[in-house]
Amino acid sequence: MVVQPGAAVGRVRSSAIRDLLAVAERPDVVSLAGGLPAPESFPVAAIADATARILAADAGRALQYSTTEGYEPLRAWIAGRHRVHPDRVLITQGSQQALDLVVRTLLDPGARVALVDPGYLGAIQVLHLAAAELVGLPDDGTGIDLGAVARARPDAVYVVPNFHNPTGATLRCRRELIALAEQEGFLLIEDDPYPDLRWAGTAPPARDSDHVVTLGSFSKVLAPGLRVGYLVAPAALIRPLAIVKQALDLNTGTLAQRIVHAVVTEPWFLTSHLASIRTRYRQRAEALTRGLRDTLGLDVAVPDGGMFVWTHLGVDTSALLPLAVAEGVAFVPGAAFAVDRPDPGALRLSFATADPEHLALGVERLARAVHALSRRSAKMPAAYPGPNAPARRPTVA
Ligand code: PMP
Repeated sequence: MVVQPGAAVGRVRSSAIRDLLAVAERPDVVSLAGGLPAPESFPVAAIADATARILAADAGRALQYSTTEGYEPLRAWIAGRHRVHPDRVLITQGSQQALDLVVRTLLDPGARVALVDPGYLGAIQVLHLAAAELVGLPDDGTGIDLGAVARARPDAVYVVPNFHNPTGATLRCRRELIALAEQEGFLLIEDDPYPDLRWAGTAPPARDSDHVVTLGSFSKVLAPGLRVGYLVAPAALIRPLAIVKQALDLNTGTLAQRIVHAVVTEPWFLTSHLASIRTRYRQRAEALTRGLRDTLGLDVAVPDGGMFVWTHLGVDTSALLPLAVAEGVAFVPGAAFAVDRPDPGALRLSFATADPEHLALGVERLARAVHALSRRSAKMPAAYPGPNAPARRPTVA
C-alpha cells in the first residue's frame, strides 16, 4: 500500500516563497523574492567567539537537553526588554514556532481568525494547518480597519505591528486594537520580528494586556539559521504552551540559545550591530525605491524600515514572474499573500538580500520583463477586481 499524506497537508497552501527560493538561489538571478536577511550582516565573529567561550566553559550543559521554557538568562534578558517577569517568556524555534504553538494551544479547529489581507504567508499556512477559519480584513491606513475587526467577531486577530509582511505597513492603531481585544474578548497575536529594523518614524506603542501574546525573533537581528525566537504571554498561558512545545520538540536548541544570550549581552555589541544593519537596509531601500521610480516610473516612498516594498504594476504579476526569472530577477507576486482576495497587480520586493548595485540591476531586469509582458499584451484588470472576481493563484504557488 502506498503511504498517502493525511488531510492536514491538503489544507496548507504550498509556499510560493519556498518554491521561489529554489529559483532565486541560481547565482545569475537577482533575488528580490525571499525575505532573507543580508548574510553580510550576520555577526560571524561574535557568534564564533561566543561559541568557543561557551564550549570551553560549559560544553556539558550547552550540548545537553534543556528546559522547554528556555535558557533562563535569555528569558530574563527578553523579559527586561519587554518589561515583564521572566516567567512570561517562552523561548521557541524561531517566531514561526511561537505562532504555531499559540494557534495549537489557544485556538480550536474552526476558530475565526482575522488578519489583514494580504497577509504573511507563514501565518496563513499555520492557520490553515490548524483548520482555522480565516477572515481577511482591509487596512484602512491605520494598519487594520478596526470597525471591520469588530464586525468580524473573531476568536483571534493576527497582526504584524512593525513593517507588515508583505505590505511594510505599521499598525498605527495598536493601542486601540488592544482595547478592542479586551472589550470583545478576543486573543490578539502580535507577530513582531521587525521592530529593530526601524530607521525612521516611530514604533506603535505596545501595551501589556492579558489578551495579547507577542512574538519576537532573533532571525532579523542576528541570524535566522540560529532558529531562536520567543513569545511573551500572560503568565497563566506559559504552562499550557510549554506542555504543547514539549510534545513537539522537548526544547529549543540549547547551544543556539546560549549563543544568542552571549552575543546580545556582549557590552556595546547590539547597539552598534543594529545601527549597522539599519544603515545597510536604509541604503538598500533607497536604491530599490530610486530604481522603481526612475526605471519603472512608480510612485513609491522609501520605507521607514523592515525588509519589503509592496507596490503595484499595471500587469498581472503572476504572469510576469516567469518572464522576470528568464530576465534574471525574482520577486513574489501579490496573489501569493492573499487571505481570500488576491491582488493580481501587486508584488512584494525585498531590499534586504541584494546590495544596491544588484538592486538597480534587478529593477532594470524587472522593467524588461514588464515590457516583454506588455508586448504580449497579456492585459489584466487595471485594478483590484473585487471580492467576487475569480481567484488567480500565482503560477509558482
Ligand atoms: N513572522 C513574520 C511576519 C515574518 O516575516 C517572519 C520571517 N519571514 C517570521 C514570522 C518567521 O521568523 P522566524 O525566523 O523567527 O521564525
